[in-house]
Amino acid sequence: MSDCIFCGIVAGTMPAERIYEDDDTIAFLDIAPACDGHVLVIPRAHSDDIHGADPANLGAVAATVQQMAARVSGALGSDGVSIVQSNGRAAGQTVFHYHVHVLPRFEGDGVMTPWQATRASSEQLARMGARLRGE
Ligand code: 5GP
Ligand code: ZN
Repeated sequence: MSDCIFCGIVAGTMPAERIYEDDDTIAFLDIAPACDGHVLVIPRAHSDDIHGADPANLGAVAATVQQMAARVSGALGSDGVSIVQSNGRAAGQTVFHYHVHVLPRFEGDGVMTPWQATRASSEQLARMGARLRGE
């Protein structure tokens, strides 16, 4: 993908502050971090989002995400780590090369606002369960 920023980072034609890399993945700092130590993990292979990704690459990214979660916790002493991954404009995706955000979190940092949760009835859960199982 010649016009993809993250493919440019994979190829080395776009600069990035790299933290870790292996045969299948690269981890680097987000250029506009939500907080200090905001890391992005990408597969070297391009897919726009989760739908087109090779499951083996998703697995490789998950393993690197786990390493980066340990890295930010250890190096920055964070109290927690949020893992964020968005697919599609409606979900807030802005760069269309599959990627996972690793966000070091500290008590009360307010980096991510929690969603509004509404308790579902057992009927609602059963209806949605059937729909998602394809019944
Ligand atoms: P999304 O909103 O698609 O989940 O996240 C894309 C992320 O990529 C954003 O947090 C944005 O700051 C980051 N980003 C966009 N362009 C670049 C770039 O050229 N280099 C780096 N390191 N990060 C980028
Ligand atoms: Zn790409």
